Amino acid sequence: MTLIKTQALLLKKINFQDSSTIIHFFTREQGKIAVIAKGSRQLKSQFRGYLEPLNLLDIIYYEKSTRDVQTLSKADLIKNFVVNLKDIQATYFSLAILEVLDKIIHQNEENQALFDLTVKALKYIDKNSSEPETGFIVFLFGAIKILGYRMDLNHCNFCGRDLKNFYFDMKVPQPVCFNCSYHHFEEITADQLVWLKSVDNLDFVQEIPPIKQSQKSARIVAFLLAYAGMYFDFQPKLNSLEMLKYLN
Ligand SMILES: [Zn+2]
Repeated sequence: MTLIKTQALLLKKINFQDSSTIIHFFTREQGKIAVIAKGSRQLKSQFRGYLEPLNLLDIIYYEKSTRDVQTLSKADLIKNFVVNLKDIQATYFSLAILEVLDKIIHQNEENQALFDLTVKALKYIDKNSSEPETGFIVFLFGAIKILGYRMDLNHCNFCGRDLKNFYFDMKVPQPVCFNCSYHHFEEITADQLVWLKSVDNLDFVQEIPPIKQSQKSARIVAFLLAYAGMYFDFQPKLNSLEMLKYLN
């Protein structure tokens, strides 16, 4: 049995027996792991209040390689993102980031670059709570690139022609030109493509250009999610974003 200390973000938690919780963490050192937090639902538990989504934690757990679920020993709060839960947009876009992560990373697959990008994205949304969608988009771009599926926004993915604007379909979520599109394809306008290109390749270290009203579109998020969904095999509908639509 080894004692492991790492930073962690909570992806999912499930009540277990009378007073415990099974937690799925995305950790910086060990990738996605599952741990049991024994007695965490008791009033006097040392874990109480820490094991919540949008908390960045320092955790210590016991690892036994023959086990699927490890044992959490200690959790300390480093930072809580989106403290103001009244900020519904910021909260749900931050939760959407965790939801995407849960779908695109595998158990015990370490990816420090993706972990660091996630923390930067959550910090960005925490600081710029009026621009949560921008944070989410830059995160998605970065995650797709880190995992090796960077998209080509310059050329039609079917015929190779230069793109000024592009079209996509939820089943064919690749940027294609007008000639290669069908009537049911949706358009990303030239104005929107200019902004998309300006944030492609940013990773929160640089200044992020604000999105103009005319460039705002739910289609951008829909397109990126469909693209990621195609490569990582998940349904592009996220519970957190569906919830946000419902609340709006
Ligand atoms: Zn084409």
